[in-house]
Amino acid sequence: MTSADQNDKYSRQTILPGVGPEGQKKWTDAHVLLAGEGMALLAGVQALSSVGVSKITLLVHEHFDPSFLVSNPPQISVEAIPMTAQLPSFTAALVVSPNTKLRRQLNRVFRKNHQPAVFAWPSGSGFALFTSRYQNGCPCLECFEVLNPKAFSKGGHSIDRLLGASAASEVLELILNGDSPLENKVWITALESGLSVKHEVMPTYKCPAKMIENGAVVTP
Ligand SMILES: [Zn+2]
Repeated sequence: MTSADQNDKYSRQTILPGVGPEGQKKWTDAHVLLAGEGMALLAGVQALSSVGVSKITLLVHEHFDPSFLVSNPPQISVEAIPMTAQLPSFTAALVVSPNTKLRRQLNRVFRKNHQPAVFAWPSGSGFALFTSRYQNGCPCLECFEVLNPKAFSKGGHSIDRLLGASAASEVLELILNGDSPLENKVWITALESGLSVKHEVMPTYKCPAKMIENGAVVTP
């Protein structure tokens, strides 16, 4: 594809306020590390590729089912690496998963390396997002989890597409601006009531990620 074609293809983004050719270049040059499963993951891949993110690395974890990628091939090439691999450097990570263990595990890695990430999971009748650049380590996802265990109540799969697309759009904002108004906040959207709440996450000394990094033995 020539660069003129590329400009034309993504012209809708470049005329959006705040994106422009420079913003488009940030998206095109971005490398997103993606973890999750099912339709939410696929919706995330589609949203990222639709604005021209050229490089996506997919983490293959124990509950990952690769068949959906075969039946819904994304428009771009996606490199898959196992969870045990040394993670590549990336612009931002996106974790869309109902799997608490997976989110916790990745929270610890990103926190340790100060790597920006967006976590998204189904919650109640809607979904929740958490964004962090881990500049000070905590607050992290597990700070929120310790203080708000009920926010991790199970959600449903009906919102998977919305979940993946919303999370991807938050990652794109993070790549575009280098930060986000949602940073260190959990954004909870309940579709049943139409309620949308942005909840500031406070660091806590009870954070398991912090205790582990400091050498404490923590029961999972
Ligand atoms: Zn923490």
